Amino acid sequence: MSEPFDVVIGGGAVMGSSIAYHLAAHPDFSGRILVIDRDMTYRQAASSLSLSSVRQQFSSPINIRVGLYGVAFLRKAGELLAVDGEAPDLPLTENGYLYLAGEAGASILTANHATQLAEGADILLLGHDALKTRFPFLNLDGIAMAAWGRSGEGWFDGYTLMQAFRRKARALGVVYRESEIAAVERDGARISAVRLANGERIVCGAFVNAAGASGAAELARQMGFEIPVHARKRCVFQFNARERIAHCPLIIDASGAYVRSEGESYLCGISPPEAEDPDSDDFDVIWPQFDDIIWPALAHRIPAFENIRPGRAWAGHYDLNVFDHNAIVGRAPGLDNAYLASGFSGHGIQQSPAVGRGLAELIAQGRYATLDLADFAFERIAAGRPLIERNVI
Ligand SMILES: Cc1cc2nc3c(=O)[nH]c(=O)nc-3n(C[C@H](O)[C@H](O)[C@H](O)COP(=O)(O)OP(=O)(O)OC[C@H]3O[C@@H](n4cnc5c(N)ncnc54)[C@H](O)[C@@H]3O)c2cc1C
Repeated sequence: MSEPFDVVIGGGAVMGSSIAYHLAAHPDFSGRILVIDRDMTYRQAASSLSLSSVRQQFSSPINIRVGLYGVAFLRKAGELLAVDGEAPDLPLTENGYLYLAGEAGASILTANHATQLAEGADILLLGHDALKTRFPFLNLDGIAMAAWGRSGEGWFDGYTLMQAFRRKARALGVVYRESEIAAVERDGARISAVRLANGERIVCGAFVNAAGASGAAELARQMGFEIPVHARKRCVFQFNARERIAHCPLIIDASGAYVRSEGESYLCGISPPEAEDPDSDDFDVIWPQFDDIIWPALAHRIPAFENIRPGRAWAGHYDLNVFDHNAIVGRAPGLDNAYLASGFSGHGIQQSPAVGRGLAELIAQGRYATLDLADFAFERIAAGRPLIERNVI
């Protein structure tokens, strides 16, 4: 039989590794931590395929607070995650998100903006004239107003963040093991052990399910409950444009298509309507999305994009919480020693610092100490009380 661990974390991408790092660094915790991931190349993990952007333009206060925490963490991540004096290279491009709204969306944008300001986010509401001055490359046809993150919003390298969490966690003594968790053993109100694909059994003092789109729902089932988390495909397309747009923000068109710069090129995509968004486990790019929907919408909005050279594209999966498009984080229902970090619905990279820290506090101290994440608790699902997030990309 294998040696026991105080905490076993299932899934070692950005979320599992952030939890592992924060727990290992917690002054009240001195136990042994094991992270198990079935593929340590992380080729198909959302954490490797993400657009890695961070924002505060949400409608629910908890997401705004978590976004503010995320950007504050990212600004000092190099220092926090350095190992032997070697800091990870994690630049943050703070060009902001620019949400464009037509007449129909203007009142929602205004209401969200009031919530964002109340939480301390640096978001500006821009009317037509201000938009023309600040973003002269936009065609404002059909646009009534916009909201723009003047600071604290932008993008970074999510893959490097995941690797930096992982490297720091290992430096603090966390053990990583490449294997599939084939079964979770439950003994009354406790998870007693996990069983690996090779039959090995590992006894655990506590268990964290951070297995993402490809594994969290199945591990939850084995823990004894269901979570409404489904793997939904999202494609990202890269292109080059002849004309370069200086300081291009992450633009979300009123059509739903988004685009941001990435070095000398651009990345874009769109989330399909719910009715055209089946569960998926393949990584095939849906090219007609680009040709028929995204590019026409972007070329209309930004005339400089009428002349582009399409490049590569990839597909990944959101761990979409179909109940209310928000994270499910905290204690696992009916269990005394198990935790959940799932259902991030397209904003998990930016939420990984706050969720990692929160779960570490919950495990080490029995409560949230820095940022209260109780709004994300599973109980809302059991009670049929959705935490609606209106700004889902
Ligand atoms: C195209 C795209 C764009 C995105 N853009 C953004 C963005 O701009 N901003 C943002 O904040 N977020 C974004 N996201 C979402 C973000 O990437 C995810 O929410 C986040 O990476 C989730 O991290 P995770 O660690 O929970 O899951 P994952 O990265 O999916 O990792 C889960 C890990 O669990 C492992 N695993 C699963 N089952 C088992 C098992 N049984 N045994 C062992 N290991 C197992 C897997 O191998 C995997 O490594 C985007 C996602 C996609 C797909």
